[in-house]
Amino acid sequence: MRLNPHIKKMQQKYLFSLIESKERKMRAKNPHALIANLGIGDVILPLAPTIARSIQNAIQEMTIAGQMKGYGPSEGYLFLREAIAQQSYKGLSIASDEIFISEGANCDMTSLPELFSNRCKIGIIDPTYPAYLSSITLSGKKSKVTLIPCLEENHFVPFPPKEHLDIVYLCSPNNPTGIAMSRENLRKWVEYAHREKAILLLDNAYEAFITSPDVPRSIYEIDGAKEVAIESRSFSKSAGFTGLRCAYLVIPRAILKNKLRDMWEKRQSIKSNGVSYPIQRGAEAALSAEGIFETQQQIVYYLHQAKLLRQELLKLGFSCFGGQDSPYIWWKTPKGEGSWEFFQKILEKNHLISTPGSGFGIYGEGYVRLSAFTTQDQTELALAQIKSISK
Ligand code: PLP
Repeated sequence: MRLNPHIKKMQQKYLFSLIESKERKMRAKNPHALIANLGIGDVILPLAPTIARSIQNAIQEMTIAGQMKGYGPSEGYLFLREAIAQQSYKGLSIASDEIFISEGANCDMTSLPELFSNRCKIGIIDPTYPAYLSSITLSGKKSKVTLIPCLEENHFVPFPPKEHLDIVYLCSPNNPTGIAMSRENLRKWVEYAHREKAILLLDNAYEAFITSPDVPRSIYEIDGAKEVAIESRSFSKSAGFTGLRCAYLVIPRAILKNKLRDMWEKRQSIKSNGVSYPIQRGAEAALSAEGIFETQQQIVYYLHQAKLLRQELLKLGFSCFGGQDSPYIWWKTPKGEGSWEFFQKILEKNHLISTPGSGFGIYGEGYVRLSAFTTQDQTELALAQIKSISK
């Protein structure tokens, strides 16, 4: 049997399973150790009541004769697409038929290469969410991939390169650095895309965490972006949907005169049977006034944990970044230690779980990521453990 040879090229093990296995080993050696886990970036606060009620009501509705819902539209129910257009893109003139509902930003961002030819030159910022690069490798595309570094000297902001690229993956606020691109930074990319006739694929999964006034909530706030940018957003981190699964992609009609939007519509009709009705009702509820109020409280809670962690690290003289427009802190390892080396050291000696920065790309080496998706108790434990780390 001829199998896909490209899977072999992938990292030996998924980053987080590797971290879990190291945690298990450590627990086996120290069964009574109190471990603070700031590793995986998954939500932990309970589902907002307005969202839960709406999902329950939708299921009840389906028990009534004549109100059963079977397969939904592959592009998503109109009620949710309209709610997104009116609420999330208020004032930006995004039409409901430019919005496509999906089960996650992961599947959207990793499926977008299907729209482009193998000959396209692809740019990906580094470090970033590793699934973009992995999915291109997995597809066997022969495309040339250029890594666009996000370095400390540039405040971890990626800048357009001199060379030509056809497609550019951007992630802002970026996972893992926690840094968001300002209006000015995004404008440079939009100008680049117009100049080079490139398409920007912006992963905006952490939009709800943006607090800086100079960071736009959407790339469509930048003039000319509708002709060159696709934006992905998700309810995962903004409304606690990592286990429920709901996200969306915006493909404006203005890109290549409708072409990309129409191609995606066709692609979705082939590959997707839609997201379940109750979950889409839950997502709609997340956009209601009560839903926004409840989820905003959760975001404030997570950002508060990020602030506590960041403040303590800085107070102790460590270098760290992010945590203002995102739930992630990007922590520079002291003494230039390698990411995995520092990860292992603070796991074994201080019982603190982080994520090695090199798992997010070559330019992530020398950093670890801390996730603020955690409780006050865990933050306090982590703060005590951080204090015991020798520099
Ligand atoms: N994009 C980024 C940047 C992420 O960090 C994550 C999850 O951690 C995802 C996408 C996945 O989002 P979803 O749960 O919507 O698939």
